[in-house]
Amino acid sequence: AEVVGGGDKEVVKDYFNNSGFQRWKKIYGETDDVNRVQKDIRLGHAKTVENTIKMLTDESPLRGVTVCDAGCGTGSLSIPLAKEGAIVSASDISAAMVAEAEKQAKEQLLAGKDDLLPAPVIPKFEVSDLESLEGKYHTVVCLDVLIHYPQSKADGMIAHLASLAEKRLILSFAPKTFYYDLLKRVGELFPGPSKATRAYLHSEADVERALQKVGWKIRKRGFITTQFYFAKLVEAVPA
Ligand code: SAM
Repeated sequence: AEVVGGGDKEVVKDYFNNSGFQRWKKIYGETDDVNRVQKDIRLGHAKTVENTIKMLTDESPLRGVTVCDAGCGTGSLSIPLAKEGAIVSASDISAAMVAEAEKQAKEQLLAGKDDLLPAPVIPKFEVSDLESLEGKYHTVVCLDVLIHYPQSKADGMIAHLASLAEKRLILSFAPKTFYYDLLKRVGELFPGPSKATRAYLHSEADVERALQKVGWKIRKRGFITTQFYFAKLVEAVPA
């Protein structure tokens, strides 16, 4: 079903500048004021970040590598990437998210900089939807963003992200396999007024097809699950 009134993108942007910002800042943070479901999602998401870092450092270190973190949220990935020595360009459609990510990055990267030698390069932050991003990066990463868009939109987003990447593209998405399971839980994922957003699931075959259409192939696959969090992680490279 189509979202009535306005495209998905405007709805998503509004959500992540308001109630969604409050909700996800808490989930992605470290404070204790989260409920059981939120705590579980926090854990699942942390695993996705950890697996992504593993995928990215598997064959060679990240020092000096340019990485675009599209839809960076509060910086959960950008900050550890910077700690690994990557030159990070972080962006998000939500100005609130970008401001929080920038604050977190300065706190976490400058505070302990004496322990990290050489000192990490602070990511470059920008408010932008990923569709408008330009430039070339060795690596492009986009975690847990596609869930906000139907496959018809995701195709174009995947194609654009691939066009920004020279060597590899890492994507995470909620797999369609768990559709019914997730449906049951969607009420808990987006409770109350924030129901304005909905979760879209993507089949791995559809994501793979979108990549193939622009000349990319999947090289590595990962799967992360906790009780309330499901994500497929794929690393794609030019075919
Ligand atoms: N990638 C981050 C992470 O894994 O920690 C954040 C994930 S959060 C569930 C989804 C993020 O995608 C939000 O910060 C939201 O503002 C952002 N977003 C949604 N649509 C976007 C778009 N079209 N372009 C850029 N960012 C977008």
